[in-house]
Order: sequence, then structure tokens, then C-alpha cells
Amino acid sequence: MTKKTTKAELLEKIKADILAQKVCPGLAVSATQLVFGDGSPDAVIVFIGEAPGKNEDLQGIPFVGAAGKFLNEMLASINLKRADVYITNIVKYRPPENRDPLPDEKAAFLPFLRAQLEVIKPKLVATLGRHSMDALLPGLQISQVHGQPKRYQGQVYLPLFHPAAALYNGGLRQTLVDDFAKIPRILAQIN
Ligand code: URA
Repeated sequence: MTKKTTKAELLEKIKADILAQKVCPGLAVSATQLVFGDGSPDAVIVFIGEAPGKNEDLQGIPFVGAAGKFLNEMLASINLKRADVYITNIVKYRPPENRDPLPDEKAAFLPFLRAQLEVIKPKLVATLGRHSMDALLPGLQISQVHGQPKRYQGQVYLPLFHPAAALYNGGLRQTLVDDFAKIPRILAQIN
């Protein structure tokens, strides 16, 4: 009898594909390593940021710097741990000098992000900031749709502000905390 491939193995295969297909070779050269994703392959909620920063690049894990600490605090506020969720980015190598990811870099990584979601099959995909929102939910303004669940092509999304943007802006910070607090009710309604 053949062994059933686990979700973790399928995710490893996607990671190997990114390396084998030499996605964004320019970024791959300037970055320390690929930052693929972190958390549970069985997560009901996936959070998607923009691209790794300095700490993420060094550790190979998304959201481990200041924005990640804030994300962990918000997860704790709704009784979730990082191990309960899955966290990744649209672009999986650190852009030089932390510049914004370019449109062709986001486009190059999008099929692999979609493949990750296809394996995990979360109930809810929470986008953090406009880069991951634009990639998955085109044509929306984050200032108008943040905190509102959107069903698109069979998947429920929750657009959220980016924790790094909210970290140093008191108004935005409270808005993000308030939007986060809606997650348990949104998840219950998807059931
Ligand atoms: N910001 C992001 O968008 N992603 C990370 O992994 C860290 C900071």
C-alpha cells in the first residue's frame, strides 16, 4: 500500500519547486535564504505578509521581528498561537534594503502562494497590508475594506493593515487590533 502524502510533505515540495525553478534569481542572490512559511499545515487561518525583512531573512522564518512580535500579541489576544495558524509572505526572499516588492516579483511568487493555500485549504486567508491583498483580491482599497470578510473565487479573505505600518501609528494600530478581534466571529460564521 502506498503511503498518503501529508500536507507537510506537499508544502516541502512547493518549497523545493521554488528553489529548483530559480524564482526571482536576483532576489535569491541578495537574500540569505528563502523564507517559505511557518506554522501548521492544518491551520484554519493563513496570514500573508509582504516580504521578509532583515530578521526574517537571517532566521528563515516569517514575521520574527518587531512586526512579528506585534502579530504574536494580536494572535494571543484571540487565543491563538503561531503554531495554530500558518504565516507566509507573497514574496519569499528579502528585497534589498527592504524596498517594496516589485510587481513582477509578486507575480513570480503568486503561483507558489496559491499552491500553499491549495494544500492548506484554510477557512480564512488574512492578508496583511496592500501587497498581499492586491495579489489575491485585486482592485480593492485597504482603507475601505480592512476588517471586512470578502468571498472571492470560493475563498473567504480578510484584508488587514500590515502590522509594521500599524506599529508606529496609534490610530492604525487600534484599527488593526479591532479588526483582529473580529476573527473568531468571522471564523464561526464560515462554519
Ligand atoms: N513584514 C512582512 O511583510 N513579512 C515578514 O515576514 C516580516 C515583516
